[in-house]
Amino acid sequence: MDRPINKRRSAGIRRLHYWLVGLTNALLLSACGGGEDAPPRPAPVPVVDMSPRLARPACGNNSPLTLFVINTARVDPVQLEKLVCTFYETYPAMSATLKTDAPKEVTYSFDDAPNQPPAWVAGGATVYYSTRYLAQVPKDVDVAVHELTHVIQGKLTGAMPGWIIEGTADWMRNLFGRYNQEIGWALSDSVAPTARYIDGYGTAAQFFNWVDKTHRQGRDPVAVALHLNALQGVNYNSSVWVTLTGKTLAELWSAYSGQPYMPAPSVGVSFYTEQNYQGPEVKLGKGRYDLKDLLWADISNDAIRSIRVPAGFKLTVYQHENFTGLSLTLQADTDTLLPAFDRAISSLLIE
Ligand SMILES: [Zn+2]
Repeated sequence: MDRPINKRRSAGIRRLHYWLVGLTNALLLSACGGGEDAPPRPAPVPVVDMSPRLARPACGNNSPLTLFVINTARVDPVQLEKLVCTFYETYPAMSATLKTDAPKEVTYSFDDAPNQPPAWVAGGATVYYSTRYLAQVPKDVDVAVHELTHVIQGKLTGAMPGWIIEGTADWMRNLFGRYNQEIGWALSDSVAPTARYIDGYGTAAQFFNWVDKTHRQGRDPVAVALHLNALQGVNYNSSVWVTLTGKTLAELWSAYSGQPYMPAPSVGVSFYTEQNYQGPEVKLGKGRYDLKDLLWADISNDAIRSIRVPAGFKLTVYQHENFTGLSLTLQADTDTLLPAFDRAISSLLIE
């Protein structure tokens, strides 16, 4: 079943919820002040300043964009200005690169709570930054470029795998970051033997660069081409790689990484992204396939809609990762899955 694109998003939603609860409590406190005879109470000291403030330093003069900041008390002013100017000076070009009508009004919200990720976007046009992270790694200004990519990606109406979302955010950071060198942030030239494109982030970003260099010369970069489909409401499927480059994703990755190409088994269970065995086919042999294994086999989460099970095979599908949730055993072709499993399979077992 559905899972968040990345943990940062769910953390952000939780954080926002806590803030709203905190705000409600503050309002209740002030509403409960005593009557005329009661001694005056000191006003509650706000833990965070929730009022958005327009941030428009000189770098934002004449910009058609608007940036608000919230709760900046613990952020170094020089660092804050760099983060703000990164928005005004790179966001229009980032938006143009991804050919997106990105939100014109964005908010930076600074969060003092412990144990937060460095930064996150919880859907919408607010980037949350951990003030503790910014204090520890003050030179990491270009974290803003990564997160602003997620704001732009909020315009996507088609489904896109998390590894492409995160790979593109690092690809954009590599392209538009202005302080990467200062902090020693760079895409790696080498591919670790255990690396897989589904690792996303820098691994996927450098893979995109390689695909562009070897197969996409003179045309839109692959990261952009992948986004264009999703901007038009088309859900990702693996056939897009063949359309873009003439090669399958597995072939591309093998050529890039030097890892052996694993051809599909000649006999196995076939999975399709549409009913009645339509859409691209992925064939798998016997084995256990948790979500990460399905992603690696180029089957997206919650994507399967019909299945061919040849004689001698037994398939068990599960609603959730790690072989949990409702399960269903199939030993025959299934052109239409039961509603509980239609676009809801996250792990499976082939015996
Ligand atoms: Zn990210």
